[in-house]
Amino acid sequence: MTDSFNAVDSWICDSLVPADSTLTGALKANAAAGLDEIDVAPNQGRMLYLLAKMSRAKRVLEIGTLGGYSAIWLAKALPADGHLVTLEVSPENAKVAKSNIKNAGFSHIVDVKVGPALDTLAQMEKDVLTEQFDLVFIDADKQNHHNYLQWSVKLGHVGTVIVLDNVVRGGRVVDPNDHTASAEGVRKAFEVMKNDKRLESTAIQTVGTKGWDGFAFALVVE
Ligand code: SAM
Repeated sequence: MTDSFNAVDSWICDSLVPADSTLTGALKANAAAGLDEIDVAPNQGRMLYLLAKMSRAKRVLEIGTLGGYSAIWLAKALPADGHLVTLEVSPENAKVAKSNIKNAGFSHIVDVKVGPALDTLAQMEKDVLTEQFDLVFIDADKQNHHNYLQWSVKLGHVGTVIVLDNVVRGGRVVDPNDHTASAEGVRKAFEVMKNDKRLESTAIQTVGTKGWDGFAFALVVE
C-alpha cells in the first residue's frame, strides 16, 4: 500500500499545493544541514496554512520548529500585523530555521525561541506582554503532548484552534504493550481532550509520505 499512499500524496500535492521555492528551498537547506526529515508533508503544511486562514489567526504559537518548514507555512497565512512564535530546543535546528525563515521573508513576524519548550512557555506566561494565541501547532517531544496542550489552553482564548501532530504513531497509541514516553504522552493528551470541558476535540488518521500517523484538533470553547 505504501506506493499507493505515496502516489496519492504526490497527486494531492501536484493538484492542490502551489509550488513555492521558499518552502522547497527550506527542505533543501534542512537536508544540507543534516536535519531529520520529520517536518510535516507539503499537503499537511498546506492544511496548517488553511486552518490558520480559516480561523483568521493573527497570533500563532508553534511548539517544535526543526528547520522552520511548518513555521513558514503558518507565516504565509498571517496578515501583515500577524505574529508567529516558534519554540525549539536545539540551537542548531533553530539556526537553520532562522535562516530559512529569513530567506522566506518572514523574519519580521516570526520569533524563534530557543530552549526547552516547557521552560520557554513558563517564561512567556510571566512576560507582561504575553499575547493570547489564536492557533497553536504542537509538534515537539511527544511525551509532553499533554503538557503542551494544557499550556495552549492557558495561553489561548475561547476560539483558539489547537493542532497536535503524530497522535497515531503507526497505531502504537492503541498497543497496550507500548509504554514508550511518546505513546503515553499522546494518550495523556487524549485524556485532557476528553475530560477538559473547555475543549471540543477529534483526531484523524493519516497515511502518505510520512507513514501512518494522525492529527488531533481541539477548539477552546469556554
Ligand atoms: N514542526 C516542524 C515542521 O513540521 O517543520 C517539525 C518539528 S520536529 C517533528 C520536532 C522538533 O521539536 C525538533 O526540532 C526537536 O528538536 C524539537 N523538540 C524536541 N523536544 C523539544 C523540547 N522539549 N522543547 C522544544 N523543542 C523540542
